[in-house]
Amino acid sequence: MPNITDQEIKQLHDNLLNYKKVLQQEIREELLKQGSTGAASLAGKVHDKQEESLSEMHTEINLAMMSQHQHELKNLERALKRMEDGEYGYCIDCDEPIALARLQAYPTAVRCIACQAKHEHA
Ligand SMILES: [Zn+2]
Repeated sequence: MPNITDQEIKQLHDNLLNYKKVLQQEIREELLKQGSTGAASLAGKVHDKQEESLSEMHTEINLAMMSQHQHELKNLERALKRMEDGEYGYCIDCDEPIALARLQAYPTAVRCIACQAKHEHA
């Protein structure tokens, strides 16, 4: 792991674990919200047409947010695995080390900035 000290790796590992906790908590809360929304419409509390479409919209937003969080969680698990395997911090596209500042800002980053830009515009 060039350019990154053990201390820094430990810090990044802690960041990942904290982030994981936050994500899991958010996913749990979304599931709870999802459950109560479903229960409310089943109980026939939503009468008004406008209210109904609002609640549908809400459900869609929740689902979109949830899949985003689950996607993040997957990235996070992958980052932790890569850390275990000693592959963490290397770009998966060009194999160059990823800048420490980037890893600190985005602990789940798997690409260097140049490759990420290419990836996003591909
Ligand atoms: Zn790269």
